[in-house]
Amino acid sequence: WRNAPPSLPFLLTATRAYGPRLISVYEDERVSYEANHRAAAAIAAHLQALGVGKGDRVAIAMRNLPEWIAAFFGVTALGAIAVPLNAWWTGPELEYGLSDSGASVAFVDDERHERLRDCYARLPELRHVIVARSRVPLDGHASRLEDMVGTPHDWANLPDRALPPIQVAPDDDATILYTSGTTGAPKGALGTHRNLMTNILSSGYAAARQMLRRGETPPAAPEPKTFLTVIPLFHATALSATLMGAMASGSTLVFMRKWDTVRAMELIERERVHMTGGVPTIAWQLLEHPDRDKYDLSSLETIAYGGAPSAPDLVRRIHQEFGALPGNGWGMTETTATVTTHSAEDYLNRPTSAGAPVAAADVKVMDAEGRHEMPVGEVGELWARGPMIVRGYWRKPQATAETFVDGWVRTGDLARVDEEGFVYIVDRAKDMIIRGGENIYSTEVENCLYAHPAVTDAALVGVPHRTLGEEPAAVVHLAPGATATEQELQDWVRKHLAAFKVPVAIRFSPDVLPRNANGKILKRELRALFEDRVAA
Ligand code: ATP
Ligand code: MG
Repeated sequence: WRNAPPSLPFLLTATRAYGPRLISVYEDERVSYEANHRAAAAIAAHLQALGVGKGDRVAIAMRNLPEWIAAFFGVTALGAIAVPLNAWWTGPELEYGLSDSGASVAFVDDERHERLRDCYARLPELRHVIVARSRVPLDGHASRLEDMVGTPHDWANLPDRALPPIQVAPDDDATILYTSGTTGAPKGALGTHRNLMTNILSSGYAAARQMLRRGETPPAAPEPKTFLTVIPLFHATALSATLMGAMASGSTLVFMRKWDTVRAMELIERERVHMTGGVPTIAWQLLEHPDRDKYDLSSLETIAYGGAPSAPDLVRRIHQEFGALPGNGWGMTETTATVTTHSAEDYLNRPTSAGAPVAAADVKVMDAEGRHEMPVGEVGELWARGPMIVRGYWRKPQATAETFVDGWVRTGDLARVDEEGFVYIVDRAKDMIIRGGENIYSTEVENCLYAHPAVTDAALVGVPHRTLGEEPAAVVHLAPGATATEQELQDWVRKHLAAFKVPVAIRFSPDVLPRNANGKILKRELRALFEDRVAA
C-alpha cells in the first residue's frame, strides 16, 4: 500500500527507470529522469529535516524551471500538499496564496523572492523560504536551493537515494491549485493523488480511441515525445495533462523563459518538438508569424489547447498549414483539467465543439435551478463527475457546498451536448448576456466575428442598458494589414445572426485581447472600454 498507484511518489519512482532520457530541457540545462528523481529525493529529505510532514502545505512560486518539477515531487513524496502559485501574480496576490493555503515552506525563484520580500513578515505560518537562482545574498529564514541540491547541472551527481518511507495513499491530499480568478477571487481546489493521476489514463485512452477510429493500431506502450511547454506548470492543464502525461510516456518537456514566437520556432526546429499549444493564442501566433517559413516545423504532430474558447477556423488552419492534428479539451481547475477531449477528424468535423467526455468522466446538462436534466441538444449548465473531480475548495465550506453536489461539480459553464455526446461550450453563466429577456451566448457571436476574414481575435461583453438590462458589445483585433469598420462588422453579424445579437458597439484593439496567465480573455477589463458609451 505504501506509495501505491495511483500516487505521485509511485509515479516518480516508476519514472526513474527512464534513466538518461530527458524530462526537461531549459536553455542549456538538460535534466534526465534519473537526475530528477535524485533531486526530488534530496529535496524530500531536506523538507523532512525542516519538519514538513503529511498534510502540511508547501508553496511553489516559480516560472517553468527544472526545479519546479523536482520541488513538486519532493513535497508530494512526504504526503505534504503542494501549492503551486501563479508566477504572474504580484506580491500581494502571491501573499494571498501563501496566507490562504497556510504554507509553512515556500519554494520561490529569484523574481518571486523579490516580489515577496516585504510580505514574508506578515505570514506567521511561513517558516522557511527556499530560493532558486538567487543572484543576491539572502537574509532571514531564506536559504538557497542550490545549497541543498546544487544546480540542475549537478543533479546527475547527487547520491541515488530512496524516497523517505512515508505512506502516501491515492486518496490523500496532494495539491491546492488556484482557479484562474477570471470571475472573482481565485479559489484553492484541494485535489488528491488519484485526481492527478487520472489524467494519465484519460489521455492515453483518448489517444488510443482516436487511432482505433482511424483504423490504426495503438502502440503497446505510449511513445516518448517532445513537448514545447509554454503554459505554466502551476495551471491544472500543464500539471496534470502535460507533466503527468509526459512522465507516463517518458517524454521531454522543453521550457521557455517566456513566450516569444521566434524563440518557439527555433526550439521546435532544434529539439524536433512533436507537440505544443496549451492555449489557442499560441497556435495563432505560430500561424501568423511572417518568418514562419524560415523554420523547419515539420516535426510538429499535434497542436492542442483548451481552457478558453477558440476560433473554429483555427482547426482547419493547423491541419492545412502545419500538417499537424489539432486538439482541444475542456476542463477546469476543479476537475484537475481534462474532462472532454477532441482531436483529429472528430475535431475537424466539429470545430465548435470541445470534444467528448474522457472514459472516466460523466457529464450532464441541467436547468438553472439544478433540478432537471435538459433535453438533448438544449443549452443548460454543464455538470461533471468522475475520479478527476477535486474534493472541494480549501477552507471555503460554503463555496464547496454550492459547487460540489452529490459527487458532481457544477461547472458554471453553459453548454449543450449533441446526440453523439459531443459537448459545445456556449458561454460562462456569468458572462451570458440577457438582452430584454433574450439570451445571447458569447461564443456564438464571437465565432461569427472570427469567421470574418479581417478578424483574428474577438470577445463579446454585456454593457448595461436602462430598459433592456444589457446589450451586447464587442472588442476585436484585426489581422495584420486587414481593415474593417464597425458598420461592416455589424452588417456581417446581422447577415448571419438574429438582430438582437448584433453588437451595438464594436471597439478595435491594436493588440490581441488581454488575457490572464491561463489564456483567458479578461472580459472584466474589456467591459470598462464601454463605460464612456454608457455615460453618454
Ligand atoms: P475562476 O473560476 O476563478 O473565475 P476560471 O474559471 O477561469 O477562473 P479555470 O479553472 O482555470 O479558472 O478555468 C476553467 C474555465 O475555463 C471553464 O469553466 C471554462 O469557462 C473555460 N474553458 C476551459 N476549457 C475550455 C474550452 N475548451 N472551451 C471553452 N472554454 C473553456
Ligand atoms: Mg471557474
